[in-house]
Amino acid sequence: MINYRQDLGKGYHPVSAPDFLPISQLRDLQLRKLKAIVQRAYDRVSLFRQRLQDRDLTPAGLKSLDDIVKLPFTEKSDLRDTYPFGLFASPMQEIVRLHASSGTTGKPIVVAYTQADVDVWASVMARSFAACGLHESDIIQNAYGYGLFTGGLGAHYGAEALGATVIPISGGNTQRQLMIMKDFGVTAICCTPSYFLHLLEQGQEAGIDFKKLPLRAGVFGAEPWTEGMRHRIEALSGLKAYDLYGLSEIIGPGVAMECQCQTGPHIFEDHFYPEIVNIKTGKPCPDGVEGELVLTTLSKQAMPMIRYRTHDITVLAPETCACGRTLRRFQRISRRSDDMFIIRGVNVYPSQIETALLAVEGTLPHYQIILRREHGLDEVEVQVEVTAEVFSDTVGALENLQSQLSLAIERTVGLRMQVRLVQPRTIPRSEGKAKRVIDQRKM
Ligand SMILES: [Zn+2]
Repeated sequence: MINYRQDLGKGYHPVSAPDFLPISQLRDLQLRKLKAIVQRAYDRVSLFRQRLQDRDLTPAGLKSLDDIVKLPFTEKSDLRDTYPFGLFASPMQEIVRLHASSGTTGKPIVVAYTQADVDVWASVMARSFAACGLHESDIIQNAYGYGLFTGGLGAHYGAEALGATVIPISGGNTQRQLMIMKDFGVTAICCTPSYFLHLLEQGQEAGIDFKKLPLRAGVFGAEPWTEGMRHRIEALSGLKAYDLYGLSEIIGPGVAMECQCQTGPHIFEDHFYPEIVNIKTGKPCPDGVEGELVLTTLSKQAMPMIRYRTHDITVLAPETCACGRTLRRFQRISRRSDDMFIIRGVNVYPSQIETALLAVEGTLPHYQIILRREHGLDEVEVQVEVTAEVFSDTVGALENLQSQLSLAIERTVGLRMQVRLVQPRTIPRSEGKAKRVIDQRKM
């Protein structure tokens, strides 16, 4: 029996109790669950058993949490190679749900849930909503896509588990989203940050002042975004923008969520064990050192993931959070190792360009990065939307802004890039994840 901290104080929601487990109890629980999940994967998943046998390892060799580093990594390619059901650890009669991610090429990756897995998922999503201050009286507009994508149903079950009112509107149909948001008195919205910007823009055009709506929280995830983007969203809409983190391979949304301190998502560590490893060597990094986030599912029955490489680059915060949660936090994910592109030998992340652009007055948070190859040389063009007032300015003023932006990028990235200012609404809007980089070099 777990003894949760009895006096949560500060008006925390009861579903948040596991967030405050004393550290020693949390580590004991993690070790116990880690041993059990490794045993389960060893007994039931042939790929995992084979990899342990190849290394002369057995589940019994796992004596402490630190021993996790001896275990082999799981990669996304393992899910593709065993498509569709090769990593399942439960028979089909125990599996109640399948989800799949839309792979950019070829077959999708498939993930499975038992009833217990669905219950864990609902509980971590309920804790996610509670962490940003939502409760039973909130009306949550869930604009994540419903279907094979985990976003929609994950948020839906969590909102219901919290006891909030959920509007299962799914993605798309922006005009209807706006009407319902206004007419139903929506207090919180779930979607990608880029889709929320689109809603904001369309709302402004329809004469809706977001600051006058009861909307107070945005639960934003499913794509990398920066602190600059958060400031823009909050200033334009008046809501508080929170970072929700998750991935289908681990459970879907609800792996980690920001509290009201907004200092990076807390990982629900009683279900997901985090490590940070060096991107190149795979060696563990201490807290406070940047690397790739690696996650192990501690509870998942249908499809345990042991040391899954997320390709998300972040840092585990070494200090505790003011909210009192004992769960570790990571810095918001603004970079993925597979989003990185290399130009003239320099590693560049879209988020670096986003940060540089948003620091300059007159730009809108819509941009796209075009990579081209001209006469054998790689060229980058950054297209950024500017406000209508800026765009109607004199040629001199536009050129001035252009060189300011180019300089801001050069300072951040260390490379000079061509910047092109475009009118509002030029860059395609997405109802899901925004496409930031268009690589025309392979064409
Ligand atoms: Zn916190």
